[in-house]
Amino acid sequence: MPSKKSATATLFCKVCHRPIEKNSIFNAVFAAKSICLRCFLALKPTYVHWKENGIHFTSVYRYEEAYQSLIYLYKGCGDYELRQAFLERLFPFLKIRYRHYVVVPAPSSSSKIDARGFDHLPAMFEGLGKEVRCLLQKTSDFKQSDQNKFGRKKVGNYISLLPGAKIRGEKVLLVDDVFTTGATVRACLKLLQRLHPAKIEVLVLARVAKDRKRRRRPSFL
Ligand SMILES: [Zn+2]
Repeated sequence: MPSKKSATATLFCKVCHRPIEKNSIFNAVFAAKSICLRCFLALKPTYVHWKENGIHFTSVYRYEEAYQSLIYLYKGCGDYELRQAFLERLFPFLKIRYRHYVVVPAPSSSSKIDARGFDHLPAMFEGLGKEVRCLLQKTSDFKQSDQNKFGRKKVGNYISLLPGAKIRGEKVLLVDDVFTTGATVRACLKLLQRLHPAKIEVLVLARVAKDRKRRRRPSFL
């Protein structure tokens, strides 16, 4: 017979491996099973909003050491257990803010997905409880970090719509993990707009630099 203790078993942070706090008001609101409050706050959640050609963009975290380290462990080292650590505490807000949206991830190349063993962006959003629809594909291992400013703009040559991709009349939330020059996101937007969605917004987990010049809000809503 299971003991009462098993129902309240201690959860451990998948980042620092310390117990996740219980019984705090903060944890009741921002409940988490993957990341402790301390590691979450180290990511510096700082919502930044901006617009490009009438499209609303939001970034969630600062692209600093804690975020870089976590994304490296997850994406670079293929630690699938970290998939919920990025957004889990923000899911309640994201559910409300994007309640009528279909999540469309920026694509990874199939060779990267095969090597890692999972597609990292859909896995990050799987706990959101919203449809995640993959409409785009990356046809080459074009690595932006190996490119200069001009080379990065060519990323659009390697992204295309998947056969049969449909999103007509629906609201699209295009998501990506890092926004550097924006070349990938802009290439994806261009393709998605051909499918005549009702509306598109962009959510990126972290934006590289320039954040200081942008408007910040203390809360998401
Ligand atoms: Zn932790």
